[in-house]
Amino acid sequence: MLLSSIRFSARRGPVCSHSFVRFKTSIPRSQKAVVYETHGGPLLYRDVPVPKPKPNELLVNVKYSGVCHSDLHLYKGEWPFDVKLPLIGGHEGAGEVVAIGEAVKGWKIGDLAGVKWLNSSCQLCEYCVSGHEPVCPSQVISGCHQDGTFQQYTVADAIQAAKIPKGTDLAEVAPILCAGLTAYKALKRTEARPGNWIAVVGAGGGLGSLAVQYAKAMGFMVLGIDGGKDKTQWAKSLGAHEVVDFTTVPDLPKTVVGITGGGAHGVVNVSASLAALQQSFFYVRPTGTVVLVGIPGKPTVDLPVLPTVGRNLKIVGSVVGNRKDTQEAVEFFTRGLVQLPVKVAGLSELPRIFEEMDKGIIMGRYSVDTSR
Ligand code: NAD
Ligand code: ZN
Repeated sequence: MLLSSIRFSARRGPVCSHSFVRFKTSIPRSQKAVVYETHGGPLLYRDVPVPKPKPNELLVNVKYSGVCHSDLHLYKGEWPFDVKLPLIGGHEGAGEVVAIGEAVKGWKIGDLAGVKWLNSSCQLCEYCVSGHEPVCPSQVISGCHQDGTFQQYTVADAIQAAKIPKGTDLAEVAPILCAGLTAYKALKRTEARPGNWIAVVGAGGGLGSLAVQYAKAMGFMVLGIDGGKDKTQWAKSLGAHEVVDFTTVPDLPKTVVGITGGGAHGVVNVSASLAALQQSFFYVRPTGTVVLVGIPGKPTVDLPVLPTVGRNLKIVGSVVGNRKDTQEAVEFFTRGLVQLPVKVAGLSELPRIFEEMDKGIIMGRYSVDTSR
């Protein structure tokens, strides 16, 4: 069925009376999505209406969506976020533009677009005008404040949506829209130089697998830390120079300091483990940077003040990245510098994927195909 109330405009071709959008004529009224009504409640694979884009928005036919641990934190209600309920989660979407709001510039029907965590920001505040839009106080987050990418059609602000070159593998690029972008930005935030050691904590997970590859492509020496033989071998297969299994080493800080000849110049914490974060303060190299990315459900650590002051440490937070970071992160991918072998599953399998993620047994990233 087609969207209702179609009429024609001499200037733009077919439009819908609700908001003067340019659109493809084959947009259905309803679609499949995974919806939850309460935190931790049933994940319902069901039919929902196709949303309509506002004047500033694109309607994107999401082909694939990555599944991020942040989706799981939000589903479980672990963070004090203002989550819309019922909610369709997801914020790593890759698909095709099928309708365009009347105020949108620079996009055509058929373009490939990425839908990110940061769906929109005000563009006017001091953070937006200085390239720090992920901290805009008026930000709207996909799959949190509004429905996200665990559906076949979603809306995205045209300014924040990511351009994806034609011919790109959409299943593989989807995780770049959050995991890749976040990992890449966190590596930049270490301010490490080529040849320096970067410790990636959580190297076998979604962000970690990509952090290992971006770090390698950026010329760093990479030490991957995760638990178990499978995950450490996985990190090694992705290019980590050294790996450490935190479940078997008796003294992790001592081991890392030994391997890196004095400590990691940068530590990128992409696990959701409080203990891992706490430990990282003790193996960062003097003058080095600890980057906090993963957000445990209970998010408070003890900062060791004397070692932090006495060794001139930098401890920084890092949330996703801005539009320029996004463009760069996608370019690394399209040039073949990062290649994450994603696991493809159907959108209807999301409950099983969340269970596996909760158990910590996923290596790399799932990318869900919204057509099944
Ligand atoms: P994931 O579940 O795919 O990966 C986490 C990895 O951490 C797993 O491989 C797990 O085995 C490993 N791990 C667990 N305990 C560990 C320990 N003590 N030491 C080392 N490794 C350990 O999760 P993900 O999707 O990669 O997300 C990771 C975290 O980053 C989540 O908390 C997520 O919410 C957060 N995140 C933050 C941002 C941001 O902008 N700051 C963006 C995306 C995700
Ligand atoms: Zn994410």
